[in-house]
Order: sequence, then structure tokens, then C-alpha cells
Amino acid sequence: MPILYIVIPCYNEQEVIGETTRRLLIKLEEMIISGKCSEKSRILYVDDGSKDKTWELITRIFSQNERVCGLKLAHNRGHQNALYAGLMTARNFADCVISMDADLQDDINVMDDFLDKYNDGCDIVYGVRSNRDTDTKFKKFTAQGFYKVMKFLGVETVYNHADYRLMSKRALDALAQYDEVNLYLRGIVPDIGFRSDCVYYERGERYAGETKYPLKKMIGLAIQGVTSFSVKPLTMVTGLGLIISALSALALLISIIAGICGAHVTVAVILSTIWLACGIITTSLGIVGEYVGKIYSEAKRRPKFIPETFLKK
Ligand code: UDP
Ligand code: MG
Repeated sequence: MPILYIVIPCYNEQEVIGETTRRLLIKLEEMIISGKCSEKSRILYVDDGSKDKTWELITRIFSQNERVCGLKLAHNRGHQNALYAGLMTARNFADCVISMDADLQDDINVMDDFLDKYNDGCDIVYGVRSNRDTDTKFKKFTAQGFYKVMKFLGVETVYNHADYRLMSKRALDALAQYDEVNLYLRGIVPDIGFRSDCVYYERGERYAGETKYPLKKMIGLAIQGVTSFSVKPLTMVTGLGLIISALSALALLISIIAGICGAHVTVAVILSTIWLACGIITTSLGIVGEYVGKIYSEAKRRPKFIPETFLKK
């Protein structure tokens, strides 16, 4: 039976931790009794430098219950980094890890399905929201727009999946090879590959407390998603520059011919020359961008390949 770790990043979550622990312990016990996971399974809270009583609560729960452990980060590093810290810690002890938020928005009853798929040989199981009924219109609209932009930029993401997922030890070891500092796990995990599947669930409301993802952080995460995964915005500049250059060169040519034929073309010649210069500058910027993009991907030092199976007699 696999040892399961449930990793939960927490930032100022004193209102929810008690209830989350209560429900998760019941769920974990259930799964252990039904033989889905080992009794060495644990809940791992990662305190992301909370300013409230979160860590105090975690230590108290830890002292009362052997199935709960805690990791405290020295400073608030943001959800993605806190989650990563938890995953990297858990992989030393677990066969598989489920990551979830502290606020009980993710339906913990689908964990059975996660484990079933893991036992069927999946290395990654994505929790996917079956609807967005609990979201505001604004969030629905922006989320959908974001997925479309990502698709256009050629980034592989799982539609309507946040960070509720199961990863096997093997997948976590692969994740550890991604050396980048600007983490966007929702992009990296699909990039790893391995056999994966989705489990659908209805996402509820936050149990208590306020969202720790205000609009500003949300936009930050979206920008992180685009810039960590695509250099297309840089290469698009080259295209733009070439189009401007071609059109203005054509305009210049036409004005010169018209001038030869006797028309008054001084203004047209001046304007198209200025446009042509702009086009050349934009193209040059694009070319520089292509190299910056290369340097960027080199700097990330992502693994060139991740072996899945090796057959040898
Ligand atoms: N979180 C974190 N560090 C932060 C912000 C958030 O660890 O700097 C955690 C938070 O405690 C929660 C999860 O990330 O467990 C998701 O946050 P939240 O539920 O507030 O986001 P929402 O569901 O509103 O998008
Ligand atoms: Mg939430």
C-alpha cells in the first residue's frame, strides 16, 4: 500500500486549519482502513510565513496527532513556492503526494479516485473542476481568457485544474530537476509527461477566512504562467517589425514611382521613410528578443528529457 502525504500550503489560515485537520483525519483514516493507503500516510502543513496563529495551531495539532506534520518557512514566499517546499519535503517519505488548499474548497472525497488512478499506474492525477458556479462572473471570464492565451502561446495546461493533484514519487523526482526560481507548477507538471489522468469534482466555497489570492496576486500568477513558459511574446515582436518594414517599404516605393510620374510626394516619402525606420528598429528588437529567449531557456536549466521506461535484456 502506498504511503500518501497530503501537502497543504497555509498562509494566515487560522480560521480553517482546525476544521481541515478534522475532516482530513477522518478521510485519511477511512482510506487507511479500506486499504487504499498505508498507515504511515501523513498530512503535511506548510506554513508560508503566516502572521497569525497558523503555526501555533499546526504545532498544537502536531503534538496531539501523529498523522500530522508541519514545515514552517522562514518567510512568506507565495503559494507556489510553499507548495513546492512541501512537495520536495514529502517526496523523501512518500510514495505519492496529494496537494490541496487549506480552505476545503477542493472536495476531499475524490482522493479515493486519485489513489485508484495511482494504483492503476498513473503518475499524475489532476483534480479538475466540473463547473465554475461558485466563481464570480469576472473570475470565470478572466480564467477562460487566460487558458485561451496560454493555448495560443503554446503552453500545455490542464483546463480548469488548479493545484489539487496527485503526484507519484517518480513525478516529484522529475519535478525536482526543474531548476527554475519562477515557479508555475500548473505548467511544469504537464510538461513532465508521464501517464496522467483527470478526476472531476465540484469546487465549493472557502470554508472560512478570506481569499489569499487577491486580484494583484492572481495577475502576478497569470504573468508568471506566460513568462515562465513562453518566449512567444518576444518572437512576436520580430513578426511585427517585419510587417511594418514590408508595408512601409512598399509605401516608399509607390511614393517614389508616383514622384517620378510627377505627383507631389514629399510628405509621403518622409512618412514612409520614418515608418521604415520604425520597422527596422522593431525587427532588430525582435532579433535581440530571440536571443534573450534562448538565454532565458538556458538559464532555467530544465531537464532535456525525462526517461519514462527503459527496456533492456
Ligand atoms: N497560500 C500560501 N501563500 C500565499 C498565499 C496563499 O501558502 O502567499 C495558500 C493559502 O493558504 C491556501 C492556498 O494557498 O491554502 C490557496 O489560497 P486561496 O484559497 O486563498 O486562493 P483562492 O482559492 O481564493 O484562489
Ligand atoms: Mg481557496
